[in-house]
Amino acid sequence: MTTLTSRAIQIDQHGGPEQLKLVQISVGEPGPGEIRIRHHAVGLNFIDVYQRSGLYPMQLPVQLGMEAAGVVEAVGEGVTHLKVGDRAAYASNPSGSYCDLRVMPAQWVCKLPDAINFETGAAMMLKGLTAQYLLKRTQPQGGLQPGDFVLFHAAAGGVGLIACQWAKAMGLRLIGTAGSEQKCALALTNGAQYAINYVKEDFLARVKEITAGRGVKAVYDSVGKDTWDKSLDCLAPFGLMASFGNASGPVAPFSPGILGPKGSLYVTRQTLFTHIATRETTQTMADDLFAAVTSGQVKIHIEQRYRLEDVQQAHRDLEARKTTGCTVLTL
Ligand code: NDP
Repeated sequence: MTTLTSRAIQIDQHGGPEQLKLVQISVGEPGPGEIRIRHHAVGLNFIDVYQRSGLYPMQLPVQLGMEAAGVVEAVGEGVTHLKVGDRAAYASNPSGSYCDLRVMPAQWVCKLPDAINFETGAAMMLKGLTAQYLLKRTQPQGGLQPGDFVLFHAAAGGVGLIACQWAKAMGLRLIGTAGSEQKCALALTNGAQYAINYVKEDFLARVKEITAGRGVKAVYDSVGKDTWDKSLDCLAPFGLMASFGNASGPVAPFSPGILGPKGSLYVTRQTLFTHIATRETTQTMADDLFAAVTSGQVKIHIEQRYRLEDVQQAHRDLEARKTTGCTVLTL
């Protein structure tokens, strides 16, 4: 039996982008419940930064990356939803997608519709499934109805631009925040009804103005430390604070006692991997995403491409807020 090898990006210790090292790995045959997939493109996500830096500690050494698309090359025992030659894409935990070829659990991997190319598939799975569960499965009491206001931070980013378009398709009035005038314009052309440059403007005052003092029904906050306090004050009574990231740093500990006087608020911390814990929910959510993309409701904007070997620069740019929309690593 010939041993296959692959390029992969590995960290031996947590730290800055310089810790991302190109290595060669050997790739074996898939075991029960696994597949071997040859990637055509790899998606870059902000979670990769947390895993590299150690904000989310990993057992080291570890290969990074949680999203990719390619062709199924071998199928292990018990895998029935995929066959050799299928075009496929995934968001997965454990990490390891920054590579040409890998063996991985099949449960996360979905057949990619013919109408969706590999780069789009690689860019959209983790970010698109996140927008899906946030807008459709993480709603305030009574649900979201057309016309409702929601606040979505980092609206011109990877998850953000998908959420802007999907929220518009759902009839929601999404108020997006972003870190520059150019990013605000991008959010607006992608379905945000209002955009606030939160580097220059007080987003709380603007949200109150836009909603005539009533506040929004839900805040989707991936920025964390810098936006948390004011975000709570943007909510209408019984509103939902859905925290799902920490791009500016983790949220400081707080007492639940503060939520009562602010209007009996709900607070939740969400993660994609709870939602896609089973093959069934993964496929149901992916089908919804595929339908949104193939119908044209949601366009996947790949605004940056880097070669796999240039992944350090990709991380630098993502952390420096230089990117918009999605980023892929080409192979
Ligand atoms: P983005 O493309 O959105 O990049 C992150 C953005 O955050 C930046 O572009 C920037 O936009 C904004 N930001 C605000 N403050 C900072 C800061 N201090 N440093 C860096 N960026 C900052 O990334 P993704 O689309 O990959 O992910 C978006 C967020 O969602 C991330 O926080 C990610 O961890 C989270 N996430 C969570 C998931 C979950 O299930 N919990 C799943 C997927 C993503 P701007 O300049 O406009 O402020």
